[in-house]
Amino acid sequence: MLTCYCPGWLWYKDQFVSQMGLVVSDDSDRILDIAPLSVLDPRFPGATKVFWPDKAVVPGTINTHAHSFQHLLRGIAVDQPFLVWRDQALYRITPYLDAQTIYWGAKLAFSEMLLHGITTIVDFFYVHNQGIDNDLAVIQAARDLGVRLVLARTFYDWEGAPKAYRESPDDAVARTETLIQRVAGDPRVVVHPAPHSVHGASDAMIQAGVQLARSLGTPHHIHIAEEPFETEETLARTGLTPVQHLAALGAVDSRLIGVHLTWVNTDDIHILGSTHAQLAYCPSSNMFLADGVTPIPALHKAGVRVGLGTDGGCSNNRASIYEEMRMAALLQKVHTLDATVISAHDVWTMGTREGAAMLDLDAGQLESGLLADFVGIDITHVSLLPWSPETLMANIVYAMSPEAITDVIVGGNPVVRNRRLVKEDTQTIAARVQSQSRRWLERC
Ligand SMILES: [Zn+2]
Repeated sequence: MLTCYCPGWLWYKDQFVSQMGLVVSDDSDRILDIAPLSVLDPRFPGATKVFWPDKAVVPGTINTHAHSFQHLLRGIAVDQPFLVWRDQALYRITPYLDAQTIYWGAKLAFSEMLLHGITTIVDFFYVHNQGIDNDLAVIQAARDLGVRLVLARTFYDWEGAPKAYRESPDDAVARTETLIQRVAGDPRVVVHPAPHSVHGASDAMIQAGVQLARSLGTPHHIHIAEEPFETEETLARTGLTPVQHLAALGAVDSRLIGVHLTWVNTDDIHILGSTHAQLAYCPSSNMFLADGVTPIPALHKAGVRVGLGTDGGCSNNRASIYEEMRMAALLQKVHTLDATVISAHDVWTMGTREGAAMLDLDAGQLESGLLADFVGIDITHVSLLPWSPETLMANIVYAMSPEAITDVIVGGNPVVRNRRLVKEDTQTIAARVQSQSRRWLERC
């Protein structure tokens, strides 16, 4: 079946245009055609028309860094320094998480993200518990809701971490390869290797992950220099900063998706820029945990591609890339005392096409042949008024309330319709998450 969406306004080639339509098909993940309605009418006479005169259609947003299980820990260890937060929230609760709990945690996180207009999620997942069942639970949650998932399958072996995170490099490689075989053929799920960080993974573990990514032809994701302690420890151990140490290990190249990059010096920025490395920037999380301020203008200028991430539900604690667009812009402006240092268009691009490009996805823009991942926004919502075609994008970035997001389509299929999930109801998710979290909170 063919469907032709006819919105009041459409984000096309970097501007809002009217009288344009977008055609999707039941049997394709991609946009079949995008053209003036007068052209589409004779071209697709049998298409079912969806008229949205009061909506704007925009590309779905790309969440380049999240930890879905951390949604279960929302509200725990708030207002604490990073290491206290890590120990009281992540490390204390992890032993109580089984595959079923992780499934409902992922469903909670992915539901909130979908309702906020996120169509692709990178879940940087590390509670493997010496197997692949927990990873498959996350993947199942994404499939059950219809969101596109990149599972950044973490490699973690620091002995101070919970047992459920730890494994040998050989086991990490073997389990990742098994997982990849299990999802082969699914157009909406991919697996990327993700050594956790310089403080969470040994040099051998980092190299195992990077080499596997290289053999698979995928990006590799690593948390880098989020907090000063990692830089201090790495300098003491190797005489190098985390970026320089990773470069020495062969981990810094154009396939690197470095997460945070908060504490980087001029030499680090030069290394990252000259190798065309990439950054998953999580400004709300960096503020929540008092990590510091990533020098986005300098990294951008050096040639580093920047996407946006929400990070975890207990270190943000919201789950919206529109929110991260706003936070990225505001934080960089106040940090540099320069209102012109970053624009609404810059952060809009980071949250859409730059994020998609980092992940090798044909998404983040609306063009014929690209993935049919898009969002319908109610342009009569009070938070967007008044607007013009010239101001609407900036209003979405700086002013929009999430209630203005009415519809989300992934791969041509509606997954949010009239502000409600299509494949699940949020009351079921609420009941399961509340009852499970009460049970394990009582035990720990
Ligand atoms: Zn993270």
